[in-house]
Amino acid sequence: MKKQFKAESKKLLDLMINSIYTNKEIFLRELISNASDAIDKLNYRALTDKKLKINRDDFKIKIEVNKDKRQLIIRDNGCGMSKEELENNLGTIARSGSLDFKLLNKESKDLNIIGQFGVGFYSAFMVSDKIIVESKPIDDSAHVWTSSGADGYTITDGTQENVGTTITLTIKSDTEEENYSEYLDINKIRQIIKKYSDYIRYPIVMDIGHKQLKEGSKDEYEDIISEETINSMIPLWKKDKKEIKEEEYQNFYHEKFFDYENSIRTIHSFVEGKCSYYTLLYIPGHAPYDFYTKEYEKGLELYSNGVLIMDKCADLLPDYFSFVRGLVDSDDLSLNISRELLQHDHQLQLIAKNIEKKIKHELEDMLENDREAYEKFFKDFGMQLKFGIYNNFGLNKDTLKDLIIFYSAKKKKMITLKEYVEDLVENQDKIYYACGETVDKIDLLPQVERVKDKYDILYLTEYTDEFTVQALVEYEGKTFTNVCAENVELDSEKEKEEIQKENEKYKDTLKVMKDTLKEVVEDVKFTNRLKTHPVCLTTEGPVSMEMEKVLSVMPNENKIKAKAIMEINANHPIANKIKSLTGEDLNNYAKILYAQARLIEGLTIDNPTEISSLICDIIAK
Ligand code: ADP
Repeated sequence: MKKQFKAESKKLLDLMINSIYTNKEIFLRELISNASDAIDKLNYRALTDKKLKINRDDFKIKIEVNKDKRQLIIRDNGCGMSKEELENNLGTIARSGSLDFKLLNKESKDLNIIGQFGVGFYSAFMVSDKIIVESKPIDDSAHVWTSSGADGYTITDGTQENVGTTITLTIKSDTEEENYSEYLDINKIRQIIKKYSDYIRYPIVMDIGHKQLKEGSKDEYEDIISEETINSMIPLWKKDKKEIKEEEYQNFYHEKFFDYENSIRTIHSFVEGKCSYYTLLYIPGHAPYDFYTKEYEKGLELYSNGVLIMDKCADLLPDYFSFVRGLVDSDDLSLNISRELLQHDHQLQLIAKNIEKKIKHELEDMLENDREAYEKFFKDFGMQLKFGIYNNFGLNKDTLKDLIIFYSAKKKKMITLKEYVEDLVENQDKIYYACGETVDKIDLLPQVERVKDKYDILYLTEYTDEFTVQALVEYEGKTFTNVCAENVELDSEKEKEEIQKENEKYKDTLKVMKDTLKEVVEDVKFTNRLKTHPVCLTTEGPVSMEMEKVLSVMPNENKIKAKAIMEINANHPIANKIKSLTGEDLNNYAKILYAQARLIEGLTIDNPTEISSLICDIIAK
């Protein structure tokens, strides 16, 4: 009976079959990689289950070609799959259920992201009309999974006697655009294997024909066929750094960690000591689609002398460097170590500490020597570093504080905190910042205008930013100060006195306004802090206007409000107008000014209809 693929799988299959993806040859890398994983699994099982008898020397992946039938066959003697596994592993894609098809449908180039979803097996449909998978697990008989594409698949009983999997592809006929026959050409296949799968730890073998002198003859040749191993089998991380081309690092990275872009940094090292180990780490060039979701799992692959013992060892990476992909291989780790024990494993902790240092060092180096790359990196992962600063009550802030960058109003580019304090003006003892949605919007904030003339201001545009600087409290003894919240001392003593007098003189007028707005502001006063803008809101206490914005979209019963103060520019014509008003007029002006101030901050107003008709009344006068 023919079974249907799950809806999502079907859609993806359609994409694969009709793919215009140019890099079709990667299908072979995917199948070889699956085969190698399957051998890993069997190897690991045999290591931990002594009853299971296997001969490690037999492990291999065999590639065969049958040109007449247009068949390409990939055989492995790995763990194999039971009927249920065939059904579950090959009948469904996106087992995590998080596959986002919006991403896939947009543009053809997005097909590159197929790798991100772990849909490797299906890529074989890019070059095949039909796929047959015959598989036998250790403790069951063989079954055959057959599919000719999106219309479904069948599973029947098989005859294979050896444990392992045989995948038979029927290669598509050539078209005008595509020469599929090259996947039946031994030389081409050898080239693809060398390019993508050279490091695979098990031999990838092919029967290759040679001409050889006939025994006892001087000029008569005969065709003989011998099995040849194509790959060098040395894991990339155990090779000499000097002998590895950047392309090899990247091919390995793409294949292993499902990225379609190159990594921006590669850290490869061997540490020798009481516990010796290899590390091969990659800093990705962009965040994977699920990076900022709960589904994202951090961790490095952990090998014990070349045998994979854990897919994602989380203890090897701190949360704030969770974006790093890679692996650790140590001969000194016990194979039987359980996940729970691992957490307390002293050697592992040492390795983790060292890895953390290495990553930090690499990021610092990038920050110093390749600012452009760092900014690109920071766009995607800066948020994670900032989380790291305020998580755990700021425990790790010293590790991370020199890795964050913010936009500088003066320099008009991203700068570090160190760069900010290196350029303080005389007597400046604070680091000024302002928050808003975008650099442009912050630049237009009334409170920013005057301060900017004198001091540099960091523009905080990410919702995590203000929490971050609050967690830092200070940098090199300079406290962080929000120019919108606290009064920045720009006035001379005389100016201060004058403004105080002004507020005193019009205290009744201001009182009327304050009463009108008593639900929403704590105080109303004249100020010198604004240059051209008529009005602004400042805050007292720990919650700023920007934080109110963030907190208000969080699902929380009690809405937290900032303690707002409405400041009116004493040097603006509106100040004189206000001084001349009383009663109802004064009430209305108060409401309009407050609404204006909120709108400038990028906050919404509760009563747009009322405000709009008040403004119309005034215009109509
Ligand atoms: P991924 O390898 O990313 O998990 P695939 O679609 O390539 O995704 O494979 C799906 C699953 O099918 C694998 O996780 C594995 O469990 C199983 N599988 C694929 N090929 C083999 C094989 N040659 N031997 C045993 N199991 C396999």
